[in-house]
Amino acid sequence: MEPIRKEELDDQACGSLAPKSKPCPRPKPGEAAGGCSFDGAQITLLPIMDAAHLVHGPVACAGNSWESRGSLSSGPSLSQYGFATDLSNNDIIFGGEKKLKDSIDYIAGRFAPPAIFVYSTCVTALIGEDMDAVCKEASDRLAIPIVPVNSPGFVGSKNLGNRLAGDALLQYVIGTGEPEQETPLGVNLIGEYNIAGEMWDIEKLMNQAGITLLSRITGDARYKEITWAHRAKANMVVCSRALLGLAKQMESKYGIPYFEGSFYGAKETTYSLRQMAFLLNDREMERRVDRLTEREENRLAHDLRPYRKILKGKKAVLYTGGVKSWSVISALKELGIQVVGVGTNKSSDEDVQRIADRVGDDTEYIPEGGASRIIKTVKERKADIMIAGGRNMYVAMKEQIPFVDINQERHKAYAGYEGLLRLAKELVDSMVNPIWKLASSPAPWDKEGNYDR
Ligand code: SF4
Repeated sequence: MEPIRKEELDDQACGSLAPKSKPCPRPKPGEAAGGCSFDGAQITLLPIMDAAHLVHGPVACAGNSWESRGSLSSGPSLSQYGFATDLSNNDIIFGGEKKLKDSIDYIAGRFAPPAIFVYSTCVTALIGEDMDAVCKEASDRLAIPIVPVNSPGFVGSKNLGNRLAGDALLQYVIGTGEPEQETPLGVNLIGEYNIAGEMWDIEKLMNQAGITLLSRITGDARYKEITWAHRAKANMVVCSRALLGLAKQMESKYGIPYFEGSFYGAKETTYSLRQMAFLLNDREMERRVDRLTEREENRLAHDLRPYRKILKGKKAVLYTGGVKSWSVISALKELGIQVVGVGTNKSSDEDVQRIADRVGDDTEYIPEGGASRIIKTVKERKADIMIAGGRNMYVAMKEQIPFVDINQERHKAYAGYEGLLRLAKELVDSMVNPIWKLASSPAPWDKEGNYDR
């Protein structure tokens, strides 16, 4: 893998080599929340479900985020195995390359995976392990792709790790295979990780419109399908910050046009499907997409009616990052909810601009993370619900604030038309839950005369 240059680290939107505006936020000293670059690389590649993922480093790095994401598989489960070389003090002094070679041999012999991804960590990068050479030697000897992912934690943020994983795919995987049959109307989804099964809802819609999902990069993916991603006619980047660079490089290397979109909310879903049809440049396809989106929007409007009655005029504070920070606002607006506070801590300049296009002037921007800061906005703005990542859930519960988890650990799929209906149900269930009334009433032992003093 090519070395990482300084200008790439500061790269705008984790994509282009020419920074024009605010780069992706860098972690502050002592800030552990949000994940390191190694974590980011794993988030991007672990959803390749039939591949083995081997962490070259202390087992703590592997255990750090193991099994904490909600990416689902429709079949193979090898990627859920937590493989690590588990380096000890001795390996740090004498080198861990032999251990890495033995681990690769063990995985190849025992599991016969179609590929093995090998991740560097802070420790192996600092002691100067030549991971690329070990992977190349093993790959030649075992005749399976062994992909080094050079994204040690200390190089930067989780977003940079997402991008370095994309670089590894471009350098070692994409373009190394051919699809079994030609797909003239194939589209790749980039940066969609099948959280809670969202990819399946999207794929169903694409199939109904006659669009072939050629390569899933990487939600519920199989290694083989990524090898032929270069045969797509269009790329859709679902998470704008993480893998935009991959789409840009595929455009310049293979001439595949791309667009950024989202599937949160009916309007965004319709836009994304139309944009795919437009890039595929097929009139009949465009007509099919128009018919499908009209039918789905009408059906959704009918199904949402009882939920909209409850949600209309309600206020929410949204604290999430990247594409979700603006696309979920669109979804909430469609449900009649006003976003009175929105987190911008993990948002790029483009994300903030898109937020501004969707909220009113009186919406408060929350630039810093931390549950207490979010709670402050919820209270000051008299919000009815807090929509944030799971780590904020217990604080919200203690403060008796209805809460909906929106981050990658969640168990509900909110993408597409079906997803918006699920989100509406979830919001209503949380807001009208009888626990709030019960929890805010005086405890039985505080009521006068309930027991003898
Ligand atoms: S790669 Fe580095 S920062 Fe990331 S978990 Fe391992 S030691 Fe920590």
